[in-house]
Amino acid sequence: MRVLLLSAVLLYSISLIGQNNAPPGATHDAAGHTSYYAGTMPLVISVPHGGTWNLTEIKDRDCEGAVTVTDRETKELAFEISDALAKYHGMRPYLIVCNITRKDVDQNREINEATCGNPEMAKPWETFHAYIDSALAEAVAKFGSCLYIDLHGHGHPEQRLEVGYLITDKKLTSFYDQSELLSDHTTSLGNLLSRKEVSSLREWLFGERAFGTLMAAKGYPSVPSQQDPHPKEGEKYFNGGYNTKRYTGAAYPNVFGWQIESNYRGVRDPKGRPAFAMAFSDVITGFLRQFSFVKMPASMGEQVR
Ligand SMILES: [Zn+2]
Repeated sequence: MRVLLLSAVLLYSISLIGQNNAPPGATHDAAGHTSYYAGTMPLVISVPHGGTWNLTEIKDRDCEGAVTVTDRETKELAFEISDALAKYHGMRPYLIVCNITRKDVDQNREINEATCGNPEMAKPWETFHAYIDSALAEAVAKFGSCLYIDLHGHGHPEQRLEVGYLITDKKLTSFYDQSELLSDHTTSLGNLLSRKEVSSLREWLFGERAFGTLMAAKGYPSVPSQQDPHPKEGEKYFNGGYNTKRYTGAAYPNVFGWQIESNYRGVRDPKGRPAFAMAFSDVITGFLRQFSFVKMPASMGEQVR
């Protein structure tokens, strides 16, 4: 009986951890709170807020300032991105996914706010970050340099990707208007811009080769981009959080990146996900191939679409 019960619990846990389209090469921590999917390219994506598994024995976070909203279907979006990269380019990103809900732990906050002081949640928090750490270390060792993306979902009325480079909307606006100079090192592209061959910060925010510009050209409006350089007065915008700051900072000199806050319709929803993931896979591989210091693996060649 005990064995049966244990199997049932295990099966239930697996159904919460896994998804139909979960990529191969998974490692889970013993409790199944966090999953790591090994990659074959210089791209590490973390998904801190997509978990839906509410641990009944853990009291929901209720400390001051605690946000507990789930970023709906961001985990599924990351899996779809992995599939598209495999299908169209023959490579996979590293994925680090938190399976438990933000009501139990917030994987994009420093530990005290993340756990609201609950010592039982320290371990999942540490594991999530240890997984990111080892993915980045492996990617840098293999490919010389690595792009890091912290993947989220927003509920703002503006249907667009909010690309967060740790630059506030106000700074972005005044930088675009050329009334303010920004220091590279306060942004999440500091380690990219420290390379000799790389042009100015302006180019990577509003220029032709900026990630936002390339996504917008594929039909996915993004801010900042050439098409939509900065949020307008009163518009909502997330500019990057704890993870983006931590993993693109001085302690990770070969890592650069940004946060993506994605809209739901046409991006995260089941109908829109495959087309979005295909566009993303083309843009991100093209983006990474621009830099001689990023050793991108050869594409397997374009598949029939
Ligand atoms: Zn989030």
